[in-house]
Amino acid sequence: EITMPRPTRRRVVCVANQKGGVGKTTTAVNIAVALALHGNRVLVIDLDPQGNASTGLNVPHHVGVPDVYDCLIDGTALADVAQQVDGIPNLSCVPATIDLAGAEIELVSVVARESRLARAIQASSTEYDYIFIDCPPSLGLLTVNALVAAQEVMIPIQCEYYALEGVQALTSNIALVKSHLNPALDITTVLLTMYDRRTRLADLVEQDVRAHFGDKVLHAVIPRNVRVSEAPSYSQSVMTYDPGSRGAISYFEAAQEIAERGARVGGLA
Ligand code: ADP
Ligand code: MG
Repeated sequence: EITMPRPTRRRVVCVANQKGGVGKTTTAVNIAVALALHGNRVLVIDLDPQGNASTGLNVPHHVGVPDVYDCLIDGTALADVAQQVDGIPNLSCVPATIDLAGAEIELVSVVARESRLARAIQASSTEYDYIFIDCPPSLGLLTVNALVAAQEVMIPIQCEYYALEGVQALTSNIALVKSHLNPALDITTVLLTMYDRRTRLADLVEQDVRAHFGDKVLHAVIPRNVRVSEAPSYSQSVMTYDPGSRGAISYFEAAQEIAERGARVGGLA
């Protein structure tokens, strides 16, 4: 039976890995839906100009829709741009429109450019148990804003060649942000994605990642599963599209572990 205890205080989780296509968005969307379906109040902030998390949650994000760009550049309140996700009562999303593509450059000349998102989150009076920030595949100012705003980093790692390559650059950026801008920041969660049991490679990658990150790696591993990749084209998460699929079951297990670990992670309870 799945239980997902609500945290005693809000958890802000940055989902990051500067490699594209490793499952960041899929993970942010499905973990958020799983937690919301089990009684948590959840917000997803789409911080990727491609807007895949907005698409995956079926939240309008065409040109002209108020979005996270407005929060970062104009100081608009999160509550003024957050949209309720259809069919999932406890879940909202701050969408990204194509406007966000300019933000990386525009932020350079803005006051407190690294902490715009942190300020928006701190100023938000809406009560959330979880805020997930879906990062773009880069280590630029958008990702830095996410790292400054979060207490936790979750790193999805795809089980393939060179899985750990580039993670070094991410971890040193995290260390920099932690020492200069956000002492509360820690890598708390690593999730293996697109795991293919039939290959010896997946097994080797898993061993490598567990050796490197120890107990930050969730026991739950997300298999490569076609239902996961089909779901967005039906404007759904796999959790609602096919809750009995192996992909959905694994994401439910991962969300449960995240909820249960919350109390144990340093400084969270
Ligand atoms: P990122 O946000 O890191 O760029 P995505 O979450 O968009 O990565 O995933 C990249 C692609 O892989 C997408 O097309 C997605 O549907 C697919 N995908 C992600 N996870 C799985 C999975 N477990 N099984 C099959 N396909 C997946
Ligand atoms: Mg993405």
